[in-house]
Amino acid sequence: MPLSLYARTTDGRPVTAQIWGYKMSDTRHTKVLIIGSGPAGYTAGVYAARAMLEPVLVQGIEPGGQLTTTTEVENYPGFTEVQGPDLMIKMQEHASAMGCDIIGDIITSLDTTKRPFVAVGDSGMVYTADAVILATGARAKWLGLETEEKFKGFGVSACATCDGFFYRGQEIVVIGGGNTAVEEALFLTNFASKVTLVHRRDELRAEKILIDRLMKNDKIEPLWFHELEEVYGTDSPLGVEGIKVKHTKSGEITDIPCKGVFVAIGHAPANELVKDTLELHNGGYVSVKPGTTETSVPGVFAAGDLTDHKYRQAVTSAGMGCMAALDAERFLAEQE
Ligand code: FAD
Ligand code: NAP
Repeated sequence: MPLSLYARTTDGRPVTAQIWGYKMSDTRHTKVLIIGSGPAGYTAGVYAARAMLEPVLVQGIEPGGQLTTTTEVENYPGFTEVQGPDLMIKMQEHASAMGCDIIGDIITSLDTTKRPFVAVGDSGMVYTADAVILATGARAKWLGLETEEKFKGFGVSACATCDGFFYRGQEIVVIGGGNTAVEEALFLTNFASKVTLVHRRDELRAEKILIDRLMKNDKIEPLWFHELEEVYGTDSPLGVEGIKVKHTKSGEITDIPCKGVFVAIGHAPANELVKDTLELHNGGYVSVKPGTTETSVPGVFAAGDLTDHKYRQAVTSAGMGCMAALDAERFLAEQE
């Protein structure tokens, strides 16, 4: 049994400390709890703070969200070109300057069955809230191959900006045909001697401007109608030596020697906190009433990639973050 100590903070709030479990627990109430620190979360923070709702924003494991895993962002209005991580620091500073309380914690559970809603942080902090804005975004998808799993972190990656540097002068493979795959392939040419883009069709779904850049880049070779079959390499030390790909029509197997494999086959909504409690659509995106950010539970709002299987852009996520804060403000006013 862990030893629990009970005390009160100087302002009278109860505090419990669990000696054995290394967890401190404290309860914090807020009118609006924002979960997630991507464009949706920070924009919700700006608007909720300006509505005097004194929001608390919990950042999660990836402060700044997906844009911190990329380099140039060229389509966020107001910035002809800005580095993704820089843009997210500006958004964080903006939310903070307006009065949003930004906390480095991860929400591990959320109870939306009663009000106030109760969220528990990995730190042990218990957050209670009159309204919740979910902005947990999306995470990279994996193919689910055994050998992909084996070499994850040892030659297999889903983040070129994080890991590209390790492959200076080496041959690299990128899997996928969307904006992420094309951007990663282009970025990786800064390090690699050659990048092979393996795609299951012969048509990319990336933006035209990116496809144009890809086709003009001598270091990139597209390989159409192929899927990853297997990653192989050495066991000691663990490292990738190549991949085997299968032709989607003929079934023929081809061997591609390479040191790095970047999987860029899309993103899935980060719905773990609510997948059993809120209505979902299109395989896991949180449903909202059309034209609003209202979920199936009154007082719980959702914004950004978590709800959006269609646009999934920084600017649309930011727009939905704004809507969620305004929707939460209206909901709280009606409650009063
Ligand atoms: P995300 O950015 O996904 O952020 C989710 C947040 O939720 C994170 O901060 C995470 O820590 C937090 N979170 C998750 N779970 C929890 C939890 N349990 N507790 C607390 N917090 C939690 N879009 C563009 O418009 N232009 C681009 O150039 C562009 N480039 C991209 C490049 C790459 C490589 C990728 C992957 C995406 C790119 N996108 C781009 C898409 C864009 O990044 C997303 O549409 C946008 O970031 C979605 O914002 P969001 O706020 O919904 O969520
Ligand atoms: P995406 O647009 O969903 O593309 C995923 C790609 O991976 C598709 O080409 C798909 O093939 C392929 N794929 C999916 N599952 C596969 C599998 N099992 N095996 C092989 N290939 C598979 O995902 P994304 O590129 O990550 O982009 C996600 C969102 O972020 C998009 O809305 C995108 O616009 C946005 N984003 C924007 C920018 C930008 O604006 N510059 C940059 C990055 C991302 P098919 O084409 O055959 O389906």
